[in-house]
Amino acid sequence: MYAFDYQRPAAIEAAVALLRAVDEPKVLAGGQTLLPTLKQRLAQPGTLVDLAGIPGLAAIERRGEGLLIGAMARHAQVAASPLVRSVIPALAELAGMIGDPAVRNRGTLGGSIANNDPTADYPAACLGLGASIVTTARTLPADDFFTGLFETALAEDELVVAVEFAAPARAGYAKFRNPASRYAMAGVFVAEGAEGFRVAVTGAGQGGVFRWTEAEAALAADFRPEALDNLSLDSADVMADLHGSADYRAHLVKVMAKRAVTVALR
Ligand SMILES: Cc1cc2nc3c(=O)[nH]c(=O)nc-3n(C[C@H](O)[C@H](O)[C@H](O)COP(=O)(O)OP(=O)(O)OC[C@H]3O[C@@H](n4cnc5c(N)ncnc54)[C@H](O)[C@@H]3O)c2cc1C
Repeated sequence: MYAFDYQRPAAIEAAVALLRAVDEPKVLAGGQTLLPTLKQRLAQPGTLVDLAGIPGLAAIERRGEGLLIGAMARHAQVAASPLVRSVIPALAELAGMIGDPAVRNRGTLGGSIANNDPTADYPAACLGLGASIVTTARTLPADDFFTGLFETALAEDELVVAVEFAAPARAGYAKFRNPASRYAMAGVFVAEGAEGFRVAVTGAGQGGVFRWTEAEAALAADFRPEALDNLSLDSADVMADLHGSADYRAHLVKVMAKRAVTVALR
């Protein structure tokens, strides 16, 4: 690890002011991605701006019929929340599938979506539920927030504050884990919301999380797993690596999509 300064602001405005004032700042949430990166000397921030001292940033609240979940909410907190389990059970289940207990007790919603790992779970939930990302500067639809591999629409001095999720009529998530890392080899979030059907895929896209629009149309006509039988995802845009070929992953996406529909129909 290289030497760095450490700041723990007590208000979100102070965190943004630090991001503008110091050289080479880096935001620290639960450290689940950032600390290994620092330990391996893959990053050399001047100052870590730790969000852990800001009150209220981990709150989970009712927002209309849906939910507002703070950026510092830990995965374990979301998985166990009676409110999340009653309003959007599929979201609580997804949070409970992330990593292992250590990761779930430190990793945060804001850190996960800001990092936008192409195999992470929360980006699929945000896109599948048509969530709105509340930042220190604006509120963005998830469709505009995730812009590519490890890329988001966040500016250098912009923080994720919370995510607003509308309550779906029904939703389900299914994931095929990489047995070593537990990240998704393919994860599919399916939801029926006020504006129709959404199918969001993680773990497979060369450009990160994406919507499978053909599956959305098929499910709008017939919300059953069998509705996807005649579809196949074009493997030309699907990720291939030492864990699996593009064809294998494209097949997994279809299988996970059908399982997610089964979950949503419970
Ligand atoms: C062994 C292991 C297994 C894992 N398995 C899974 C898995 O199965 N599924 C899955 O989805 N994830 C998995 N993860 C990732 C984990 O869930 C964390 O969500 C992710 O690493 C982000 O960590 P964090 O929240 O601690 O953020 P940090 O590591 O602190 O930060 C990550 C990045 O986001 C930025 N950031 C953090 N918070 C904010 C904010 N509020 N606003 C703007 N930028 C911010 C930081 O500057 C940094 O660039 C795994 C991680 C590990 C170590």
